[in-house]
This record gives sequence, C-alpha cells and structure tokens, in this order.
Amino acid sequence: MVGEEKKIIFTEANAGCYGDSARGTYIGRDVAIPIAKAYGFDPYPTPCDCDYCGVNHNSPNYDIFRCEYYHEIWDEAETFLNNRTEDGWWWGSTENGDWGLWIADEEEPK
Ligand SMILES: [Zn+2]
Repeated sequence: MVGEEKKIIFTEANAGCYGDSARGTYIGRDVAIPIAKAYGFDPYPTPCDCDYCGVNHNSPNYDIFRCEYYHEIWDEAETFLNNRTEDGWWWGSTENGDWGLWIADEEEPK
C-alpha cells in the first residue's frame, strides 16, 4: 500500500484561470482556500493558536489573511486540490501570478 487511493475530482475539464494576478497575495484567501473548502478542505483541523486567530477566530470579521499561518494554509489548500486532480494537471500560481488549474509539463512552442 502506498498511501490512500487518489480520488480524482478535477480533470482537464476544470482547467483554467480562477484568480487573476491582480489579486496578488490575496488569491489564497479569495480563491484557492475557498475552492478547497468547497470540496472538504478544513483549514483548521485543530484550532489555530496564533496571536490573531486566538482572539478573532469566532469574530464575524475574521480574516484568514491575517492568520500567521496564512501561507501554510494556502499551501495546504493547493496540496488538497492537487491530491484530487488527475495526473498531468496542477493547481497553483503561475510565474505571472495567475492562479488556477494548469497543464503540467507544457510542451515548448514549436
Ligand atoms: Zn492563525
């Protein structure tokens, strides 16, 4: 056995840009984490004890962007999505900052 069986949710049919680079570092909060959550990702399997979350976790104005572990949670959200994506495709940020589901190992233009 090599870990749990990969359950594919995302395929070529889902490919595309989901977050424009204009969102910058907010893409995680506004796009990546919400998409992962929609498919069952839990950003806080255990309550976060960072200074911000410890006080604000239950606030209606809670902003995950201010969590000290924001970038780690964003990474985990991408890993969650990529673990549910067929081979040859990947979720993440491109060099120009767009975020979405992209083809892996794209061939050089001829
Ligand atoms: Zn936190």
